[in-house]
Amino acid sequence: MRTDTPQTIYRKDYTPPAYWVDTVEMGFDLDPAETRVATRMTMRRNPDSRARNLLLHGEGLQLAQLRVNGKALGPRAYALGQGTLEIFNPPQNVVLEIETVIKPDQNTSLMGLYVSNGNFFTQCEAEGFRKITYFPDRPDVMARYTVMLRADKERYPVLLSNGNLIDQGDLGDGRHYATWEDPFKKPSYLFALVAGNLVCHEETYRLQSGREVLLQVWVEEGNLDKTQHAMESLKNSIRWDEERFGLELDLDRFMIVAVGDFNMGAMENKGLNIFNTKYVLANPRIATDADFANIESVVGHEYFHNWTGNRVTCRDWFQLSLKEGLTVFRDQEFSADMIGTDTGRAVKRIEDVRVLRQAQFPEDAGPMAHPVRPDSYVEINNFYTVTIYEKGSEVVRMYQTLLGKDGFRKGMDLYFQRHDGQAVTCDDFRAAMADANGRDLTQFELWYSQAGTPRVKVETRYDAIGKQYEMTLSQSCPPTPGEESKQPFHIPVAVGLLDAAGRDIPLRLAASGAGPDAPTTLVLELTRDKQTFVFTHVPERPVPSVLRDFSAPVILDIDYADEELAFLMAHDSDAFNRWEAGQRLAMRRMLALTEQVEADPAALQNLDEPMLVDSFRATLNDEALDPAFRELALTLPSETIIAEQMAVVNPQAIHAVRRALRRLLAQQLRLDWRVAYEGNRDAGPYSPDASAAGRRGLKNLALGYLAELDDTESHLLAQSQYDNANNMTDRMAALAALANGGAPGREDALAGFYDEFKDEALVVDKWFTLQAMARNTDVAAVRALMSHPAFTLKNPNRARSLIFSFCNGNPPQFHATDGSGYGFWAESVIALNRINPQVAARLARSLDRWRKFTPPLRAMMQDALRQVARSGPLSKDVHEVITKSLA
Ligand code: ZN
Repeated sequence: MRTDTPQTIYRKDYTPPAYWVDTVEMGFDLDPAETRVATRMTMRRNPDSRARNLLLHGEGLQLAQLRVNGKALGPRAYALGQGTLEIFNPPQNVVLEIETVIKPDQNTSLMGLYVSNGNFFTQCEAEGFRKITYFPDRPDVMARYTVMLRADKERYPVLLSNGNLIDQGDLGDGRHYATWEDPFKKPSYLFALVAGNLVCHEETYRLQSGREVLLQVWVEEGNLDKTQHAMESLKNSIRWDEERFGLELDLDRFMIVAVGDFNMGAMENKGLNIFNTKYVLANPRIATDADFANIESVVGHEYFHNWTGNRVTCRDWFQLSLKEGLTVFRDQEFSADMIGTDTGRAVKRIEDVRVLRQAQFPEDAGPMAHPVRPDSYVEINNFYTVTIYEKGSEVVRMYQTLLGKDGFRKGMDLYFQRHDGQAVTCDDFRAAMADANGRDLTQFELWYSQAGTPRVKVETRYDAIGKQYEMTLSQSCPPTPGEESKQPFHIPVAVGLLDAAGRDIPLRLAASGAGPDAPTTLVLELTRDKQTFVFTHVPERPVPSVLRDFSAPVILDIDYADEELAFLMAHDSDAFNRWEAGQRLAMRRMLALTEQVEADPAALQNLDEPMLVDSFRATLNDEALDPAFRELALTLPSETIIAEQMAVVNPQAIHAVRRALRRLLAQQLRLDWRVAYEGNRDAGPYSPDASAAGRRGLKNLALGYLAELDDTESHLLAQSQYDNANNMTDRMAALAALANGGAPGREDALAGFYDEFKDEALVVDKWFTLQAMARNTDVAAVRALMSHPAFTLKNPNRARSLIFSFCNGNPPQFHATDGSGYGFWAESVIALNRINPQVAARLARSLDRWRKFTPPLRAMMQDALRQVARSGPLSKDVHEVITKSLA
């Protein structure tokens, strides 16, 4: 906590460290109340640095010993500052010995060394290592670690750290020890230890090279029956990285540990990944299809970091997307390959783009907008954002789109050849891509340095006599904080042209000579403000399909007639754009209706939308389409995504329109939904595979629509699904249907569900989430849930399950016109700020688009933000978010 104004850190101020660290030896005497940490580092002066003093970071540490080359340092030889320890004028070579004392059981921030359910865990990314000992805690300082853990044998039978176990034994006095050595040099943020009462599921796995490795998934006793899926996902990840990128696991042992108290999803510590339980534990009784899929992708993500992040790491935290954008891209590709089919890949792509639009586009248009490689930050923890991760992944994907899959692989190979074992920058990655392919990617750099979502406008002209089709693309990008005007981006725009029968027309560009087998999708490279591309040999006026597979993270402005959208929805060979056409059609109608409702609240009576209903009916009943695809195509754009399209947001109007459309679709397609429901029931045993999950998804979408009718028939359907479900996906879908309406079984089902699962923390989270997002849950109901004995602010998953779900996932209630939602938000941010700044700052983001709302809401939101601002000492994390929001 602080009262002074926190400092801004700038990328341009980067300087190399004065000292390198070669080896680090650590000894931990683990005790929850008071842990002693002895650290011995060998360091040498960096000839490239002009600094004379050795700067170490440290936070909340008690310094018990400080020796340089064997001698205790006198008081004038060093200085302790705000979070720093500076040693004056040390010799060329330094052996630094430090002893610190820390208090893990008082650590509610969950950064550094902390206790969760009686066990010890660490979290060091980004700057948590400095809460364990004084150290040059920056990612370009890479060292080899040897770590000895000592602890009570009975309470902490398992002692883990990075790398290989080289020694273990008894210490007498009921204590024991284990010594771990990590053969690879690593930055301090990848350090980890775990100590406690845990059990593991282990398997040996043979790599393509023939080498055998030991794989372990560590969990609390009682959770061993929930580890199989994570283990399978790990094996699939290892195989995939060998096949797709030729990257092999470099250790003989790879461990995953699950922890119930965790700020984020998971962490890629070298050889010892630590995971939020939410992304490890699964079986059909407790986990949904979405959970199974998330586990696969997060296990993959952390495993893939072993090369993209660990072997090659970041020079400084401004380069965070170097590892995160690239690793998200890799996990997205992995998940797509695991599904295997073309539509499966498209479904995955649509889901990823939905996340981008739902979360990243708003960020890019708001007060926290920042480039993929930011220029400054106050608190680095606030920059683990959807821009760094998801937009960063889109930027990496564009290399692949521009260079082809093989070209991209060449670039990756060169990147590892050049930089294995180094801490590098986004420019180094781009240079590897360019050099491996002999391409000039200078302009592409703007994707890293300019924030904001570009808009690409499409204008077309058909010349029936010359059989030519002109496509003019122009780009623009709105200003973002600190960047008034933008230069044009290098944008790959994948294009196809459809003939009147809906078939792809072979594409020939006027500029290039016509080959015999013309492709049906071409990637146009838009590099200027405005460019015209001329297609020749176009036999008839085509319908253009632009930005296929979402080839760039932009907003596409294109004037389609309703009929053209319905046509694309039915015929486009690009599944992404087929989905997109339906979303455009729905969006167009919803925006028009929202405007009407705002002028006249009665506008939704006698609603009739024949075009939309007919096209939805055609999609729903098209048995040739993958059920998973149909589910996505029949889901209306979310209220958040609709809000993004509006200059002034009225959440009540948006909600009313979306709800009315859902009811209309329920009524007019009632029988079709019933047929889809019955046709996609699975009788057999549960499997989370994509095809079974897709059928369940469509069936449960049908249930959701039917539940909009809130009649006896839909109540009975939901109740019977709830009673007979053999898996959590069907359970949750049925419970949500019951909870959202006036079904007589509602209260019993909610109470019974809690009773049945009260010992499964992750399911209790779901129970809170479902209620937080239910239609009739207002602030008073949320407060009542907060006084439930199972609720606590201290566990991030639990806090998120109720508070975040309400503030971000229940727009009409959160934005209640009396402002009660905002008052509740302010209280929650203030309360969380004292416990866990990182979690508090995430919640603080919920109001950052306040300027976009209707004047009465806007004023109340601003009040709530100011209330937090003056509430007392704020953490750097919350301070930064609130200050930038109000600026
Ligand atoms: Zn990551």
